Amino acid sequence: MSAQPLKVHESLDAYKRQIPFFNYPALFKQHEEDYLRIFKDVCGRGAYILQKDLAQFEENLKKFLNVKYAFGCSDGTNAIMIGLMALGVKPGDEIICSSHTYIATASAGQMLGAKAVPCDIGPDNMMCPKDVEKRITPKTKVIMPTQLNGRCCDMDALQAIADKHGILIAEDAAQALGAKYKGKCAGTMGKFGTFSFYPAKVLGCFGDGGAIVTNDDEIGQKLLALRDHGRDETGMVVMWGTNARLDNLQAAFLDFKLKGYPAEMERRRAIARMYNDAFKGMPQLTLPPGPDADPNRYDIYQNYELAADRRDELRVFLKDRGIGSIMQWAGTPVHKFPKLGFNTSIPGVDKFFERCLMIPMNMTLTDDDVQFIIKSIKEFYAQ
Ligand SMILES: *Cc1c(COP(=O)(O)O)cnc(C)c1O
Repeated sequence: MSAQPLKVHESLDAYKRQIPFFNYPALFKQHEEDYLRIFKDVCGRGAYILQKDLAQFEENLKKFLNVKYAFGCSDGTNAIMIGLMALGVKPGDEIICSSHTYIATASAGQMLGAKAVPCDIGPDNMMCPKDVEKRITPKTKVIMPTQLNGRCCDMDALQAIADKHGILIAEDAAQALGAKYKGKCAGTMGKFGTFSFYPAKVLGCFGDGGAIVTNDDEIGQKLLALRDHGRDETGMVVMWGTNARLDNLQAAFLDFKLKGYPAEMERRRAIARMYNDAFKGMPQLTLPPGPDADPNRYDIYQNYELAADRRDELRVFLKDRGIGSIMQWAGTPVHKFPKLGFNTSIPGVDKFFERCLMIPMNMTLTDDDVQFIIKSIKEFYAQ
């Protein structure tokens, strides 16, 4: 496809931009001075492992989430793994997760010898409670909903199923820091909840980072030890553990970013509102629920994920205009990796992945960028 000829009065800028799917350097530039100041401060004190900046970030994270315990972790995946260890997950146990999730949700339990059981999604692309219930066996130990794209699953329905069958719920809230369901924050509704501070996440650091939270005293004590070689507050080894600590330097950056985060959630919701308002009524697109669609939820749009007719052609069209787009998990849900021993079809997920697409949703987008993306998508379907 060749570029359209320029009209005389139009600048190049009128039909082509540089809007990458995610712009790491631009994000750094937004607060470069602050980051350099924090770097100098922390390194000047030589404060690298389990220092006051980490403790302070954990305090602020607890307040932000209204939860009893919060521990910074090396990343979101290890956070899930130590959480499952604290629950006593053992070989042979089964853990039900959505197939529309990052492989980490499924792999954390597998690494402990448990079996991941991927399930289907409902119309809002979240874990489908009805399908979860169908997959329960006597071996099922944990249901692990993914609070996908910054939205919470139907936690009441999932909790009712868990209670009925005597199963635990643990949340993979890697994408949902600050998202709410009936006034409760994602990550605080199950036995434990985990977060990721991967650089492209809603609250990202400069490398790997994560956290685990719980309201349960016994699990809280275990997590404290599991993350730091089995040591308690006094440094005594009280159980077997591992090293899954968040770097103090990353914690200092995150504590700074957390202060500005409430405004960022609102900005993400505003962008989602612009997209939803512009695209509603277009038969070619299936949109995510809008920010004002459900008074019981506060979605924070880690991603803006929709389903689009002629998805692959649309992506090429957008790329020609300088607009980045991606398919979540590079287009492959958990149950589609044959080397992992899966050989099933999960109809709702399979159908969604034929059309799934994520368009830019991040803190470096201007309103003008958003309008250009909207205009471009409309022009694609008008041609
Ligand atoms: C990012 C992510 C993780 C893993 O987080 P890491 O910090 O990269 O280990 C787990 N689950 C979901 C749903 C994610 O999006």
